[in-house]
Amino acid sequence: MLPLAPTAPPSLRRADVAERDWLDWRWQLRHMVTNADELGALIRLTAEERAGLAASAHLFRVGITPYYASLMDPDHASCPIRMQAIPSAKEGDIRPEELRDPLGEDHHNPTPCVVHKYPDRALFLVVDRCAIYCRHCNRRRLVGGDDPPTSDEIEAGLAYIAKTTRIRDVLLSGGDPLLMSTAKLGHIVGRLRAIPHVEIIRIGTRIPVVCPMRVDDELTSMLRRHHPLFVNTHFNHPRELTPESRAACARLVDAGIPVGNQAVLLRGVNSSVRCLRTLMRELLKTRVKPYYLFQGDTVIGTDHLRTPVDAAIELYGKLRGWMTGMGVPHLVIDAPGGGGKLPIGPQYLQSLDDDVARVRTYRGELVDYPQPRERDCTVAYDDVYFAGVPEDDDREGSAEAEGPGARGDP
Ligand code: SF4
Repeated sequence: MLPLAPTAPPSLRRADVAERDWLDWRWQLRHMVTNADELGALIRLTAEERAGLAASAHLFRVGITPYYASLMDPDHASCPIRMQAIPSAKEGDIRPEELRDPLGEDHHNPTPCVVHKYPDRALFLVVDRCAIYCRHCNRRRLVGGDDPPTSDEIEAGLAYIAKTTRIRDVLLSGGDPLLMSTAKLGHIVGRLRAIPHVEIIRIGTRIPVVCPMRVDDELTSMLRRHHPLFVNTHFNHPRELTPESRAACARLVDAGIPVGNQAVLLRGVNSSVRCLRTLMRELLKTRVKPYYLFQGDTVIGTDHLRTPVDAAIELYGKLRGWMTGMGVPHLVIDAPGGGGKLPIGPQYLQSLDDDVARVRTYRGELVDYPQPRERDCTVAYDDVYFAGVPEDDDREGSAEAEGPGARGDP
């Protein structure tokens, strides 16, 4: 029988490292690979990679856990791990259309650690370090470990969320929140959980991908006390789905934490049909739900990693319908300047009038869907079920925090 898909092998523990150290996430962070000499001892660096590493000091920090570095193909510079972790000299070729803050987050800071852009959800940036510095990172202006949030700033963020009663959903991000000590992270999550209007807490993290040993029993025991809590991680290539990373995801899921994946479509890294299908299928097998597939943001120094939108749509057309819908993420452009995540994809609706919607199947056949005769969509029972409940407050997030009509106001 032919193999269904290549299987990512386990990481290769360096011979000079004791197993106990290798499995210690703090050891992994203390020994991050940061320069050409260290990388050159692990893989055959190309001249282009060396040039990128030399230039990176002025561009964006380099840092790779020994675990993630061990997944690199030593002989092929086209290795997806290498392309995500080792800077290209092209990062210095900054285009006029590229932005420091591509998502317009810096205009929505009611307090230093909080981005409140959308009506009912807020981003809480609790740390500025990562366990890898991804070459496609859209927050490269903020991460790197040089300017960590202070305790006062964290307190100010908690206070803002507590007083802004229309925030239902808080996304902890940074940097990578799972780099905080379990006690410190537990303190913040516990404070958020105690705020009555915060319905869900999400954590955005690349830890299961780049330092899976961090997802230990202490962490999952803490997180499971704060449900409903979700984790969104960031696998971009099936080679990253090693036995170790799958086990980390399993520990989270077994703690009752739904895990989603936010992949970035990266030109030459995962921009092929077979790569994307395999990634999504393997994620599902790991009980991780593919959630978003992002067009690369227009962040400075990443033009070479972005996929043309027409190519992205064509690739996406080879996912939807061709594989289980559970494995098909939303393909989105995060609009430059802060317009939010906008779905893009093949156009399935070909025409629409009061009688019929003409749709195109994933195989290209045209099918007519007859419209119903009744058009009034009022839900009469809403007046009963929602009696006395105010409508959602749909003002832009960081617009004046509270006011008449805000949820919870009399
Ligand atoms: S882990 Fe996330 S925040 Fe950190 S460098 Fe990678 S993409 Fe950026």
